[in-house]
Amino acid sequence: MKITAIKTFPIWIGHRNQFILKIETDEGIQGWGEAGVSGRELAVEGAARHYREFLIGKDPMRIGALWQEMYRSQYFEGGRALTGAISAIDIALHDVVARKLGVPVYQLLGGAHRHTVPGFVTSTSLDGPKVVEDAKRLVADGWEAIRFVPGHTDKGGDADLFEPRESVGITAEWIIKVREAVGFGPVLGIDYHHRLNVAETASFCQRLPSGTLDFLEEPIRDECPDAYAALRQMTPVPFAIGEEFASKWQFVPYIEQGLTNFARIDVCNVGGPTTNRHGLPRARGHFTCGVSGNDFVVCIEGIQPPDSDA
Ligand SMILES: [Mg+2]
Repeated sequence: MKITAIKTFPIWIGHRNQFILKIETDEGIQGWGEAGVSGRELAVEGAARHYREFLIGKDPMRIGALWQEMYRSQYFEGGRALTGAISAIDIALHDVVARKLGVPVYQLLGGAHRHTVPGFVTSTSLDGPKVVEDAKRLVADGWEAIRFVPGHTDKGGDADLFEPRESVGITAEWIIKVREAVGFGPVLGIDYHHRLNVAETASFCQRLPSGTLDFLEEPIRDECPDAYAALRQMTPVPFAIGEEFASKWQFVPYIEQGLTNFARIDVCNVGGPTTNRHGLPRARGHFTCGVSGNDFVVCIEGIQPPDSDA
């Protein structure tokens, strides 16, 4: 079997860009993949064009070797655009090989481990009584883990203006009320999308009574593990970090220094299932939870709460 075409589809899906890629073969078998570098989909498409010239004519069954050659065959290795493209190609190659062998993709990854996968749902922003009612409804629907959007107001008249200090205050106020309303059963988290600095994050966490928050996702940017190490000394709140990482190597200091408690491994960014098979065991070796990134999850249609009858 040989690869005959790599086709790319950078598309707008209503609220953000998404990058889809299709591999075609001379046997008529096709495979689909996705990159997760949202908002940089044209850069990913350019990277995929580089790889297209290399991949056409190659045997798609050699997934691991092709991954190594894509990542290492030129002087400049890695980076989000390149590994986004490699991720989409690697996912599509797994699709092709699974179809060729007549097995589900999970069979290529070690076989089924479980029949259900626990998930979390993302609620509304922490800025008023609506979020409390929303959280109570989600718990009643059966969700056992809820992630919230930080609150902020458009006090300055500009809805796009984000004031970190203002957000810290309003978000702390309403996550405390949510915890009081739903009790200690559900897992509660907040994704700050790296919009705070170290001092702002510490101030936020220190406003919360112990037990309020089960995880704080990416409060600061990830370029400097030492910044997270400093933050780790200032709060015991568990961190969820890694969604922006473009390689398994970026996870190393975060896992080995205990900086991420929930490794947010996004298979669409980190290099596809080939990388994930290496990165996730490393996290597990340190008893760090692996939490798949949302780009892969949105591909699964019909996600339902754990106790749903639907
Ligand atoms: Mg996130």
